[in-house]
Amino acid sequence: IYIAGGLQSAVMFLVNAGSTLLVSLGVVLDRLAEVCADEPSTTPARSSTSPLDGYDMRLQRVTFGYSQHARPVVHNLSIDVPEGTHLAVVGPSGAGKSTLANLLAGLTEPQHGQILLDGGELGCIDEQQLRREIALIPQDAYVFAGTVRENLTYLRPDATTEALDDAVAAVGAGETLARLGGYEATIPAGGEGLSPAERQLIALARVYLCPARVVILDEATCHLDPAAEALAEHGFARRPGTLIVIAHRISSAERADRILLFSGTTPEVGTHDDLLARSDLYAELVGYWRDEHRARHTDEAEPEAS
Ligand code: ATP
Repeated sequence: IYIAGGLQSAVMFLVNAGSTLLVSLGVVLDRLAEVCADEPSTTPARSSTSPLDGYDMRLQRVTFGYSQHARPVVHNLSIDVPEGTHLAVVGPSGAGKSTLANLLAGLTEPQHGQILLDGGELGCIDEQQLRREIALIPQDAYVFAGTVRENLTYLRPDATTEALDDAVAAVGAGETLARLGGYEATIPAGGEGLSPAERQLIALARVYLCPARVVILDEATCHLDPAAEALAEHGFARRPGTLIVIAHRISSAERADRILLFSGTTPEVGTHDDLLARSDLYAELVGYWRDEHRARHTDEAEPEAS
């Protein structure tokens, strides 16, 4: 239990620090998994490497909390996410949306209940395979020192330039690519010189290109303007597989097939219109987003004080 807790903390630290998601996390997890392998454990080994036949996801009575004493952040949550779904997750700040994203990506494990992918528990799928099947982009997108091409092909090293062009166009990263000077241009350590939006576009194109059939965007477009965000999300929605978007704008939620309104205790699922009709919390969130949108536009329209 201690080792599993350490693993979880390591994962959460890395994710919350906005550091590399798939790359360094995979390496750290692999190393920790090696340590865990020598210990007697009640959790199933991450050993299954069988190819998956499909990508239906199912959460069965999932409960997760960061400490045994505090109220769980995710409590008894059950939801089906059939392959190909475009699901938006919305909820108040601190409701647990990122926690849920990490659970869905297999970066943390539930204390109770199960998360199934193609009928098998996420926790039983070989770590490297899991990282290939599910990609999560956090808010603080990661770029590393190297060429743009290396940054884009990290998760699919054999990608052709044509595939790169498609990914860049699909997420709307063309202008960023041109500004950087093309695929062979160098990105300095820490992505210095790139704006947060440009870093997000590189991370989006990288994941668009990768083989994962389940993509989770955890506010991964928050630095893009609404039009650029719409372009990127439309691109991902056309990509084969499941798309789960932790939404921070009403427009992201409206684009989804289904919305999970997540408040930790009483999750509700429906379309935008369903939820608007039956949930006060959803109506409140929509009102808040609309006010915020109006305020931003008013600020932009107002001439600067001289
Ligand atoms: P936001 O919309 O503000 O990003 P969220 O809905 O994504 O929030 P989470 O980030 O999942 O919410 O956090 C849910 C709760 O869990 C919060 O009370 C948060 O303080 C707590 N929490 C998040 N990460 C950790 C952690 N690593 N250790 C302890 N508590 C945490």
